[in-house]
Amino acid sequence: MNEQCVRAIVLGTRDVKEIDRVVFFLEDSDRKRSGFAKGAKHSKKRFVNTLEPLALIQLVYKETPRGLWLQDSKLERWFITGSESRKHLGVKHIIREVLLRFLPDDDPNPGIFELLLKTLQSLCETSDAINILILFLFRFGFVQGYLPTFERCSVCGNELARAKKWVWQLTPFRTTCAFHRLSGTLKWEWDLEILRVIQAAHTWPVDHLWKVKVSRWKRKGLLKNLSTWLEITFHQEIKSFKWLERILEGELDSVRLDSSLQKASG
Ligand SMILES: [Zn+2]
Repeated sequence: MNEQCVRAIVLGTRDVKEIDRVVFFLEDSDRKRSGFAKGAKHSKKRFVNTLEPLALIQLVYKETPRGLWLQDSKLERWFITGSESRKHLGVKHIIREVLLRFLPDDDPNPGIFELLLKTLQSLCETSDAINILILFLFRFGFVQGYLPTFERCSVCGNELARAKKWVWQLTPFRTTCAFHRLSGTLKWEWDLEILRVIQAAHTWPVDHLWKVKVSRWKRKGLLKNLSTWLEITFHQEIKSFKWLERILEGELDSVRLDSSLQKASG
Protein backbone atom coordinates (compact mmCIF):
# COMPACT_ATOMS: atom_id res chain seq x y z
CA MET A 1 0.00 0.00 0.00
CA ASN A 2 1.14 3.48 -0.91
CA GLU A 3 1.63 5.77 2.12
CA GLN A 4 1.44 9.53 1.58
CA CYS A 5 2.15 12.52 3.80
CA VAL A 6 0.38 15.70 2.75
CA ARG A 7 -0.54 19.10 4.08
CA ALA A 8 -4.30 19.37 4.25
CA ILE A 9 -7.19 21.52 5.44
CA VAL A 10 -10.12 19.62 6.93
CA LEU A 11 -13.43 20.61 5.36
CA GLY A 12 -15.72 18.40 7.40
CA THR A 13 -16.26 15.01 9.00
CA ARG A 14 -19.04 12.44 9.22
CA ASP A 15 -19.34 9.96 12.06
CA VAL A 16 -19.50 6.31 11.12
CA LYS A 17 -20.77 3.89 13.73
CA GLU A 18 -19.72 4.91 17.22
CA ILE A 19 -16.02 5.57 16.98
CA ASP A 20 -15.00 5.94 13.33
CA ARG A 21 -15.07 8.97 11.06
CA VAL A 22 -14.97 9.83 7.38
CA VAL A 23 -12.92 12.99 6.89
CA PHE A 24 -13.30 15.34 3.92
CA PHE A 25 -10.23 17.46 3.26
CA LEU A 26 -8.44 19.59 0.69
CA GLU A 27 -4.81 18.56 0.28
CA ASP A 28 -1.88 20.55 -1.04
CA SER A 29 -2.03 18.77 -4.41
CA ASP A 30 -5.28 20.79 -4.91
CA ARG A 31 -7.47 17.71 -4.64
CA LYS A 32 -10.51 17.37 -2.43
CA ARG A 33 -10.47 13.90 -0.96
CA SER A 34 -12.08 11.83 1.75
CA GLY A 35 -10.62 9.13 3.96
CA PHE A 36 -11.60 6.73 6.68
CA ALA A 37 -10.22 7.42 10.16
CA LYS A 38 -10.66 4.30 12.24
CA GLY A 39 -11.25 4.95 15.92
CA ALA A 40 -10.94 8.71 15.35
CA LYS A 41 -13.65 9.73 17.80
CA HIS A 42 -11.83 8.18 20.74
CA SER A 43 -8.29 8.70 19.50
CA LYS A 44 -6.05 10.15 22.19
CA LYS A 45 -2.93 10.11 20.09
CA ARG A 46 -3.19 9.80 16.31
CA PHE A 47 -6.06 12.22 15.62
CA VAL A 48 -6.58 14.19 18.80
CA ASN A 49 -7.94 17.70 18.05
CA THR A 50 -6.83 17.59 14.43
CA LEU A 51 -9.86 16.39 12.49
CA GLU A 52 -11.86 19.54 13.15
CA PRO A 53 -13.39 21.83 10.49
CA LEU A 54 -10.78 24.11 8.90
CA ALA A 55 -7.85 22.65 10.84
CA LEU A 56 -4.59 22.86 8.88
CA ILE A 57 -2.82 19.53 9.44
CA GLN A 58 -0.03 17.25 8.32
CA LEU A 59 -1.86 14.10 7.31
CA VAL A 60 -0.57 10.59 6.65
CA TYR A 61 -2.79 8.17 4.76
CA LYS A 62 -2.59 4.95 2.81
CA GLU A 63 -4.20 4.53 -0.59
CA THR A 64 -6.00 1.21 -0.87
CA PRO A 65 -8.38 -0.21 -3.47
CA ARG A 66 -11.18 0.54 -0.99
CA GLY A 67 -10.18 4.19 -0.56
CA LEU A 68 -7.94 6.25 1.69
CA TRP A 69 -7.17 5.07 5.23
CA LEU A 70 -5.95 7.85 7.49
CA GLN A 71 -3.00 6.84 9.65
CA ASP A 72 -1.88 9.89 11.58
CA SER A 73 -2.26 13.67 11.71
CA LYS A 74 -0.50 16.60 13.32
CA LEU A 75 -2.01 20.02 13.87
CA GLU A 76 -0.40 23.09 12.30
CA ARG A 77 -3.17 25.50 13.28
CA TRP A 78 -6.91 25.87 13.68
CA PHE A 79 -8.75 28.39 11.56
CA ILE A 80 -11.91 28.10 13.65
CA THR A 81 -10.87 29.04 17.16
CA GLY A 82 -14.13 29.88 18.93
CA SER A 83 -12.87 33.40 19.64
CA GLU A 84 -13.82 34.92 16.26
CA SER A 85 -16.86 37.14 15.70
CA ARG A 86 -20.11 35.54 14.53
CA LYS A 87 -19.67 37.25 11.17
CA HIS A 88 -16.20 35.75 10.71
CA LEU A 89 -17.48 32.36 11.76
CA GLY A 90 -20.37 32.62 9.29
CA VAL A 91 -17.97 33.53 6.46
CA LYS A 92 -15.69 30.58 7.28
CA HIS A 93 -18.61 28.16 7.23
CA ILE A 94 -19.81 29.48 3.86
CA ILE A 95 -16.35 28.90 2.38
CA ARG A 96 -16.30 25.40 3.86
CA GLU A 97 -19.79 24.58 2.59
CA VAL A 98 -19.08 25.90 -0.92
CA LEU A 99 -15.97 23.70 -1.19
CA LEU A 100 -17.70 20.66 0.29
CA ARG A 101 -20.66 20.94 -2.05
CA PHE A 102 -19.26 22.32 -5.28
CA LEU A 103 -15.59 21.40 -5.58
CA PRO A 104 -15.23 18.22 -7.65
CA ASP A 105 -13.77 15.22 -5.75
CA ASP A 106 -10.34 13.70 -6.39
CA ASP A 107 -9.45 15.66 -9.56
CA PRO A 108 -6.80 18.40 -9.25
CA ASN A 109 -8.31 21.90 -9.04
CA PRO A 110 -5.20 24.04 -9.69
CA GLY A 111 -4.63 26.83 -7.17
CA ILE A 112 -7.50 25.96 -4.83
CA PHE A 113 -5.37 24.94 -1.82
CA GLU A 114 -3.40 28.18 -1.93
CA LEU A 115 -6.62 30.15 -2.36
CA LEU A 116 -8.24 28.51 0.68
CA LEU A 117 -5.15 28.81 2.88
CA LYS A 118 -4.56 32.47 2.06
CA THR A 119 -8.26 33.29 2.40
CA LEU A 120 -8.29 31.79 5.90
CA GLN A 121 -5.05 33.55 6.84
CA SER A 122 -6.48 36.86 5.63
CA LEU A 123 -9.67 36.30 7.62
CA CYS A 124 -7.54 35.99 10.76
CA GLU A 125 -5.82 39.30 10.06
CA THR A 126 -8.69 41.61 9.17
CA SER A 127 -12.17 42.63 10.23
CA ASP A 128 -13.16 42.88 6.56
CA ALA A 129 -14.71 39.41 6.38
CA ILE A 130 -17.46 40.14 3.84
CA ASN A 131 -15.01 41.75 1.41
CA ILE A 132 -12.79 38.65 1.62
CA LEU A 133 -15.75 36.33 1.12
CA ILE A 134 -16.82 38.20 -2.03
CA LEU A 135 -13.31 37.96 -3.49
CA PHE A 136 -13.02 34.29 -2.56
CA LEU A 137 -16.34 33.41 -4.23
CA PHE A 138 -15.47 35.24 -7.45
CA ARG A 139 -12.02 33.63 -7.56
CA PHE A 140 -13.51 30.21 -6.89
CA GLY A 141 -16.00 30.73 -9.73
CA PHE A 142 -13.24 31.69 -12.15
CA VAL A 143 -10.79 28.96 -11.06
CA GLN A 144 -13.50 26.34 -11.56
CA GLY A 145 -14.59 27.81 -14.90
CA TYR A 146 -18.13 28.53 -13.71
CA LEU A 147 -18.06 32.26 -14.46
CA PRO A 148 -17.79 34.12 -17.79
CA THR A 149 -15.17 36.86 -18.15
CA PHE A 150 -17.63 39.77 -17.72
CA GLU A 151 -16.15 41.53 -20.73
CA ARG A 152 -18.93 42.01 -23.25
CA CYS A 153 -22.65 42.68 -23.43
CA SER A 154 -24.62 39.54 -24.31
CA VAL A 155 -27.11 41.62 -26.37
CA CYS A 156 -25.06 44.13 -28.43
CA GLY A 157 -21.51 42.79 -27.97
CA ASN A 158 -20.10 46.10 -26.69
CA GLU A 159 -17.50 46.12 -23.94
CA LEU A 160 -19.16 46.33 -20.53
CA ALA A 161 -16.44 48.78 -19.46
CA ARG A 162 -17.88 51.28 -21.96
CA ALA A 163 -21.41 50.91 -20.66
CA LYS A 164 -20.73 52.45 -17.22
CA LYS A 165 -23.84 50.77 -15.83
CA TRP A 166 -24.29 47.11 -16.58
CA VAL A 167 -26.48 44.20 -15.53
CA TRP A 168 -25.64 40.70 -14.27
CA GLN A 169 -28.76 38.63 -14.86
CA LEU A 170 -29.16 35.06 -13.66
CA THR A 171 -32.26 33.80 -15.48
CA PRO A 172 -31.38 33.73 -18.29
CA PHE A 173 -27.70 34.01 -17.48
CA ARG A 174 -26.20 37.06 -19.22
CA THR A 175 -24.25 40.25 -18.73
CA THR A 176 -25.55 43.31 -20.58
CA CYS A 177 -25.43 47.07 -20.80
CA ALA A 178 -27.98 48.53 -18.39
CA PHE A 179 -30.06 50.32 -21.04
CA HIS A 180 -31.36 47.17 -22.75
CA ARG A 181 -34.90 46.12 -21.87
CA LEU A 182 -34.47 42.61 -20.52
CA SER A 183 -37.04 39.89 -20.07
CA GLY A 184 -36.53 37.23 -17.39
CA THR A 185 -35.79 37.65 -13.69
CA LEU A 186 -33.00 38.05 -11.13
CA LYS A 187 -31.20 41.13 -12.44
CA TRP A 188 -28.62 43.14 -10.54
CA GLU A 189 -27.43 46.46 -11.93
CA TRP A 190 -23.79 47.35 -11.22
CA ASP A 191 -21.30 50.10 -11.99
CA LEU A 192 -17.70 50.08 -13.19
CA GLU A 193 -16.29 49.70 -9.68
CA ILE A 194 -17.86 46.26 -9.40
CA LEU A 195 -16.66 45.38 -12.91
CA ARG A 196 -13.10 46.24 -11.85
CA VAL A 197 -13.49 44.17 -8.67
CA ILE A 198 -14.63 41.16 -10.70
CA GLN A 199 -11.79 41.50 -13.20
CA ALA A 200 -9.22 41.85 -10.39
CA ALA A 201 -10.69 38.77 -8.67
CA HIS A 202 -10.15 36.92 -11.95
CA THR A 203 -6.60 37.97 -12.74
CA TRP A 204 -4.69 39.25 -9.70
CA PRO A 205 -2.23 36.99 -7.85
CA VAL A 206 -3.83 35.58 -4.69
CA ASP A 207 -1.35 37.48 -2.47
CA HIS A 208 -2.64 40.79 -3.84
CA LEU A 209 -6.30 39.83 -4.00
CA TRP A 210 -7.14 41.25 -0.58
CA LYS A 211 -6.06 44.73 -1.61
CA VAL A 212 -9.25 44.89 -3.67
CA LYS A 213 -11.95 46.66 -1.67
CA VAL A 214 -15.64 46.69 -2.50
CA SER A 215 -17.48 49.81 -1.26
CA ARG A 216 -19.17 48.82 1.98
CA TRP A 217 -22.67 49.81 0.91
CA LYS A 218 -22.46 47.56 -2.18
CA ARG A 219 -21.25 44.44 -0.35
CA LYS A 220 -24.58 43.08 0.85
CA GLY A 221 -26.15 43.34 -2.62
CA LEU A 222 -23.12 41.84 -4.34
CA LEU A 223 -23.05 38.95 -1.88
CA LYS A 224 -26.76 38.30 -2.53
CA ASN A 225 -26.05 38.35 -6.28
CA LEU A 226 -23.19 35.86 -5.78
CA SER A 227 -25.03 33.51 -3.42
CA THR A 228 -28.07 33.42 -5.72
CA TRP A 229 -25.78 32.69 -8.68
CA LEU A 230 -24.19 29.76 -6.80
CA GLU A 231 -27.56 28.34 -5.73
CA ILE A 232 -29.00 28.62 -9.24
CA THR A 233 -25.88 27.20 -10.89
CA PHE A 234 -25.75 24.15 -8.61
CA HIS A 235 -29.48 23.79 -7.86
CA GLN A 236 -28.70 23.66 -4.15
CA GLU A 237 -29.41 25.90 -1.22
CA ILE A 238 -26.33 27.03 0.72
CA LYS A 239 -27.48 26.93 4.32
CA SER A 240 -24.55 28.95 5.71
CA PHE A 241 -25.63 31.95 3.61
CA LYS A 242 -28.98 32.09 5.40
CA TRP A 243 -27.14 32.04 8.73
CA LEU A 244 -24.81 34.86 7.69
CA GLU A 245 -27.76 36.90 6.38
CA ARG A 246 -29.41 36.68 9.79
CA ILE A 247 -26.15 37.75 11.46
CA LEU A 248 -25.81 40.73 9.10
CA GLU A 249 -29.46 41.72 9.64
CA GLY A 250 -28.87 41.56 13.40
CA GLU A 251 -25.81 43.76 12.92
CA LEU A 252 -27.86 46.31 10.96
CA ASP A 253 -30.59 46.23 13.62
CA SER A 254 -28.05 46.97 16.34
CA VAL A 255 -26.63 49.86 14.28
CA ARG A 256 -30.14 51.30 13.88
CA LEU A 257 -30.80 50.78 17.56
CA ASP A 258 -27.55 52.54 18.49
CA SER A 259 -28.29 55.55 16.27
CA SER A 260 -31.87 55.86 17.56
CA LEU A 261 -30.60 55.65 21.13
CA GLN A 262 -28.04 58.37 20.37
CA LYS A 263 -30.79 60.56 18.90
CA ALA A 264 -33.01 59.93 21.91
CA SER A 265 -30.22 60.73 24.36
CA GLY A 266 -28.93 63.69 22.26
ZN1 LIG B 1 -25.36 46.10 -24.85
